[in-house]
Amino acid sequence: MHGSTLREPRVAVVGGGVSGLVAARELARAGAAVTVIERDEHLGGRVRGAALCGAPFDVGAEAFATRAGAVEELVSDLGLTTHIVHPARLGSWVVTAEGARPLPPGGAVGIPVRPLAAEARAHLGLRGAVRAAVEPLLRRDRAGSAASDAPETLGALVRRRLGERVLDSLVRPIALGVYSTDPDRLELSAVPGLAAAYARTGSLVRAARQLRDASAHAGGAVAALAGGMTALTGALVADVRDRGVEIRTGTRVVELTRGVSEHPAAPGRRSEPQWMLRDSVGKTILRCDAVLLAVPESVAATLLAERTPPPREHDIEVVALAVADTRLDAAPRGTGALVADGAGIAAKALTHVTAKWPDRAATVPAGTHVLRLSYGRAGVAPETAGLSDTETLGLACRDASLILGVPIDSAAVRDWVRQPWIVGAPPGPTPRLLPPPGVDVAGDWVSGTGLASVVPGARAAAARLLTHLSPMNESSVSSA
Ligand SMILES: Cc1cc2nc3c(=O)[nH]c(=O)nc-3n(C[C@H](O)[C@H](O)[C@H](O)COP(=O)(O)OP(=O)(O)OC[C@H]3O[C@@H](n4cnc5c(N)ncnc54)[C@H](O)[C@@H]3O)c2cc1C
Repeated sequence: MHGSTLREPRVAVVGGGVSGLVAARELARAGAAVTVIERDEHLGGRVRGAALCGAPFDVGAEAFATRAGAVEELVSDLGLTTHIVHPARLGSWVVTAEGARPLPPGGAVGIPVRPLAAEARAHLGLRGAVRAAVEPLLRRDRAGSAASDAPETLGALVRRRLGERVLDSLVRPIALGVYSTDPDRLELSAVPGLAAAYARTGSLVRAARQLRDASAHAGGAVAALAGGMTALTGALVADVRDRGVEIRTGTRVVELTRGVSEHPAAPGRRSEPQWMLRDSVGKTILRCDAVLLAVPESVAATLLAERTPPPREHDIEVVALAVADTRLDAAPRGTGALVADGAGIAAKALTHVTAKWPDRAATVPAGTHVLRLSYGRAGVAPETAGLSDTETLGLACRDASLILGVPIDSAAVRDWVRQPWIVGAPPGPTPRLLPPPGVDVAGDWVSGTGLASVVPGARAAAARLLTHLSPMNESSVSSA
């Protein structure tokens, strides 16, 4: 086939997480010959399952945001619509040094929609609540219009518009829980929809109301799949295999080089595949016409040999406990709680999984509760790093006791798992890597944290590659 201008373009997708699998699907649908190359034996990346008391449990992503409908559309395409489940409407809590309180309902990253309502006043005090309540009356300004050219952070904008109290009591614990990043390091653009809603309304309180209304319209802010999010990656893998995509697991790509590019007699026409991928012993894995790097930022930067600022990645750890204790039947902290600085608790958040997802409660023995704690944030190693399993279990039981207000003894723990992860910071307004023509990038460091951002991001990256490939070999790229 080499040398023919009529062969289908061969595309390598490096990384078999959701981004890579979604991109592979789009490329295969458009008629490309696709190979997915994944470092691990496991496909799905940060969507990963484990067994807890014999029941499936998500140790990575456990749900998806319903905004914009991108994940539902994929779920429906894959025939999984009947698997969609919704969380119990129990609300979540914040634990501070002063105690545990329910979060005011409906806010975006903790920005209250009704600052003077009793639930918000309980966090803000009267002064803090009044300061926030007048925000819609303040002069409209543009995010980032302040002193420097640097993009404005969520923390700076909240402090300026709503005051320190809203930032410390509500926004900081939620930003740390959701993005593992302090709001003073989190660019506004990383919070989906917030910058646009703020630009439209000129007020953070009004922007939070708009985002609340949009998620109510979508039937709730998050949903999941019965049996766990691995149902999505399992279906994606089956789908791409059906479309003829080749999948190579256990293969780490360490080098990407450009080879022969154009047919000598017909500039612009491909003769030999342009890109060469090698593994750690220098063996050629694949030659191809285009490459999609659906890997973490640090890996993409190495493969592109780009001298960029060091990637903004950090470690976190998830620790999940299956606890037999009927005192938890009452779901004392609703679906879970976020932890504010200074509360004397190492974990940054706890999800009461079996209270949040009734379908999961049905999979574990009666009276057993699954609690999922997360540790670590940007700039701070997880408190569990370097701890033995016994020490980690002890710390998780102590933290869960403090968060839930119910003493949990390790003797009541029927099963548990720990799973370390490396996560990247959400993207800023300007891309940090500029891949050459024929190479593109996808992932949450490109399009934003979470499946609702990476699914459309991966589709967009695949579409850009197809646009690049089509003039080179128009006759060979059919549409599905
Ligand atoms: C603990 C945790 C909880 C989360 N919870 C949620 C949630 O509830 N909802 C939500 O929407 N999102 C959640 N997320 C975020 C979500 O999981 C990610 O945004 C998403 O899965 C990223 O997918 P990806 O394919 O871009 O990256 P990844 O899933 O990281 O995939 C990248 C893949 O590239 C592979 N790779 C790396 N280097 C190489 C190499 N050199 N060669 C070949 N392959 C390589 C990796 O092994 C990996 O499989 C969570 C993340 C974590 C860590």
